[in-house]
Amino acid sequence: MSAAENLGELLHRNCPNCETDNSSRPALGYSWQDWKLRKCGACGFVYLENPPDYADFKVAFAWEKNHGDRKVRMRKEYPLAYAISRAWRKFYRWAVRKPDKLVKRINKWVPPGLVIDVGCGNADRLLSLPTHYETSGIEISKALAEEAQGLLAARGGSIINLPAVEGLASYEAATASGVLMRSFLEHEHKPVELLSHAARVLKSGGVAIIKVPNFSSINRRVMGSRWCGFRFPGHVNHFTPASLRAMVADAGFSTVGFGFFDRFPLSDNMWMVVRKGG
Ligand SMILES: [Zn+2]
Repeated sequence: MSAAENLGELLHRNCPNCETDNSSRPALGYSWQDWKLRKCGACGFVYLENPPDYADFKVAFAWEKNHGDRKVRMRKEYPLAYAISRAWRKFYRWAVRKPDKLVKRINKWVPPGLVIDVGCGNADRLLSLPTHYETSGIEISKALAEEAQGLLAARGGSIINLPAVEGLASYEAATASGVLMRSFLEHEHKPVELLSHAARVLKSGGVAIIKVPNFSSINRRVMGSRWCGFRFPGHVNHFTPASLRAMVADAGFSTVGFGFFDRFPLSDNMWMVVRKGG
């Protein structure tokens, strides 16, 4: 069965970084079923060319479902690798028990004020913020947005049930202290627009915190198609440290937190803290 069945008309994306049409280039070997990953011939950015449209995405591919699809695929196609990776992650979490990486960065970098969580899910991250932050979230899934609104009501926070770009566009300019994009930018069809809206809604000195899979990670090279950063059709952008740096700089941000351990090559993900206005 085709993975793209029942998803309506698929979109065609040019390179989200530089707008080059790469449809005549061969798809990368990491592509899966109908989903085509391209490497931009002009700038080298790696992206999914043909994701489903937002309208279908909202109904059939809300985050929670999309997440489940990868598990099903991994279990079916790579049962041993799946079992080992699950057991390892469980052990690692137990053995390391590190403090929450997001909260640590928020406390270090985000000035008091309004924090907007892009792709807030059921608001679990917003609920864990210290009380000197006002909270607001954007969530495309109607079910999750309703759950989030209920849970956040006690703190006085607000939830916007829209796609991320439209959601961020609805905030006044220069009103937020922090914008969180944790495991979000890899899903966004228009990452350049999203980052420029993030810069617009932040006050001068406000920061955005970004966590994305690191396409340059050693695990991607070792695991190939089985790498956990490949999720079809959910992950539509595959950032390297260099391409992420370039995109945030183009949006008007200065990178303030992106040390070696924030982009550690043995980790599947990288964390970046960027500030508006130096
Ligand atoms: Zn490009």
